[in-house]
Amino acid sequence: MNRENLINILDSILKSPTAPFHEYFVRESIIKLLSGCGNVRIKDDAFGNLIVNLGPENKSPCWIFGAHMDHPGYVKPQELKGIEDYRIRGDFSFLGGVPENYLNGNFPIKEFGSFAMWDLAALKIEGDFIRSRACDDLIGCVAIVALIKLLSSRNSSHSFGAVFTRAEEVGFVGANELAKSWPFSQNSCFVSIETSIPTGSSGLGKGPICRVGDRLTIFDHIATESILHAARENNLEVQRELLDRGACEASALSVHGIPVSGISLPLGNYHNCGKDNTIEEEFVSFSDLEVLIKLMESILESFPTGPKMEFVKDRSKFEKVNDKYRLLIDQTSDNFKKKSN
Ligand SMILES: [Zn+2]
Repeated sequence: MNRENLINILDSILKSPTAPFHEYFVRESIIKLLSGCGNVRIKDDAFGNLIVNLGPENKSPCWIFGAHMDHPGYVKPQELKGIEDYRIRGDFSFLGGVPENYLNGNFPIKEFGSFAMWDLAALKIEGDFIRSRACDDLIGCVAIVALIKLLSSRNSSHSFGAVFTRAEEVGFVGANELAKSWPFSQNSCFVSIETSIPTGSSGLGKGPICRVGDRLTIFDHIATESILHAARENNLEVQRELLDRGACEASALSVHGIPVSGISLPLGNYHNCGKDNTIEEEFVSFSDLEVLIKLMESILESFPTGPKMEFVKDRSKFEKVNDKYRLLIDQTSDNFKKKSN
């Protein structure tokens, strides 16, 4: 997808205000962006999660890409049970994982009727950085919408599913509702498309991170290997980490027996927590986002029928090591011969 088209999608989604349980503006933007796309079927579940199918109607999608439409923010309280005092500000209560010292700073907020967000830029593109009050997880929504538009415009025969969920930031409420009436085959693989704090040696600008698990769960081995294989086959720069500084919807779906995996974009200023207790825009790398879209496309191309075990069983790389040490194996084998009793 060219940059201009991608910037249009970024502009429309990132400028839609959102908070937990108040995802209707983002939802409307997504529906609008997808209207007129051929081969795309959009529906919702009773909870308001958005469910999209792309491809021939008779094909059941094997890969389901999912992102959440909310971001931590202030909502008008409606008898919220057990909310801590430091989260309350006037008529609003803060929902989402932000430490107390950040909330005590009284950083300005912007109201949107019955919810409010930090008064920060909705979208700024500076060099390779995309900065926004809500990269998490509107960037995930952007990536999936871009993929749908791209494949739809090419009249691609690939089939895949997409879900855009509500109220992730309070503990996967939307994902849990979705799982209870899972609208896809039980064998289809869910791929959480997220933004996350980089861990280990991972970092921004080095490609999307194939998430082997999160703080709560380890993801499906074959799905994870399939994603990494698709990246290698297509020469995509992809990192691999256990991103355990947070948890994602893959964990919530995995307890329902759905195979899960994850891909995250490295995120700066997670949940708007900048240096020295200041509230700042989150940021991701533009080029990482572009690789993420290519990676999702590559997964569908390399594994049209879902995650595959075949190449995982490739034993040749280990056999090569044994071959390399064949001489030493032979020379030392006498020491390990079974002694006759
Ligand atoms: Zn989050």
